[in-house]
Amino acid sequence: MTRVYNFSAGPAILPEEVMEQARDEMLDWQGTGMSVMEMSHRGKQFMSIAKQAEADFRELLAIPDNYQVLFLQGGATSQFAMVPINLLQGNQKADYVCTGHWSKKAIAEGRRFCEINLAASSEENGFQHIPPHQEWHLDPGAAYVHYTPNETIAGVEFHWIPDTGEVPLVADMSSTLLSRPVDVSRFGVIYAGAQKNIGCAGLTVVIVRDDLIGQPLKSAPTMFDYQIHRDHNSMYNTPPTYAWYIAGLVFGWLKRKGGLTAIAEVNRAKADTLYRFIDNSDFYYNPVERASRSRMNIPFILSEQGLDGVFLQQAEKAGLTNLKGHRSVGGMRASIYNAMPQEGVEALVEFMKEFERTRT
Ligand code: PMP
Repeated sequence: MTRVYNFSAGPAILPEEVMEQARDEMLDWQGTGMSVMEMSHRGKQFMSIAKQAEADFRELLAIPDNYQVLFLQGGATSQFAMVPINLLQGNQKADYVCTGHWSKKAIAEGRRFCEINLAASSEENGFQHIPPHQEWHLDPGAAYVHYTPNETIAGVEFHWIPDTGEVPLVADMSSTLLSRPVDVSRFGVIYAGAQKNIGCAGLTVVIVRDDLIGQPLKSAPTMFDYQIHRDHNSMYNTPPTYAWYIAGLVFGWLKRKGGLTAIAEVNRAKADTLYRFIDNSDFYYNPVERASRSRMNIPFILSEQGLDGVFLQQAEKAGLTNLKGHRSVGGMRASIYNAMPQEGVEALVEFMKEFERTRT
């Protein structure tokens, strides 16, 4: 068996230990004679898996008691609608900050429900920096402020939490949640699709403050009401049981690694390794302003664009896969989530060095 270093933006690399455990438990979970895939979500075995996963997730993020954790489906994309549906609560306006492709998607969906105030945007500069807080025009009457702490495509990340006073702060943390500690008490809602740092696709995790639950739009579909999911412990209908189980294994792995403070250090070191190499090279280049650079998704452009195809081909041969950048940015992108080891980043840097040296 040959495993590659997979730099995909998501679904993405997962810890080998987690997949080995899933493999070992595949046909017979803990002496039950059943796979987790075959279990009733209401049976005591799956209930214990679900409960443990939530407890570990709460512990990792030190989630305060006045927050609910929901294990849903529909991806982060469904949250683009679920947030206004639940948080408008009679208000007609919401603030959004636009820092890339995913912010734009959230804004477009938000417009279906309310008036959007674009509090700040970096679109004019090609999403290469995070607009500083002094430049934001927040509306104190807004129902909430939505932003995207890490833009998976542009590779820009907030390294600070915006202060929105009494107005609830909502964050699409799809590509940064669990990569570092975060003060949950600063947020009204945090949501993320699982397929990056949480586990496999099919699960969406939502952390929501109690007071934001219970007043959805009257026309809200049942499945888009946070209260329904809270009242049924995320089991109003059949939840994505296997993805929930895998997430639980990932949480256990993270705890064994020393939790989020420890993984944040590893992530910082990995990102530093790659950025330092890119910055010292005349051949590769990262377009993002230094203070706004992502530790999870690192785009880089080759100074000779015609070489993109050869680069990707040779990288693939060297066991370094999924490095093609998003078409809106061009070039390459290395996504280096929690499960990517430092050795994977070093292998990439070695390959890039060699490619630059022998390119002619
Ligand atoms: N937001 C961000 C920041 C993302 O990276 C993605 C997926 N790459 C999405 C939203 C959409 O997530 P999903 O596919 O789970 O709906």
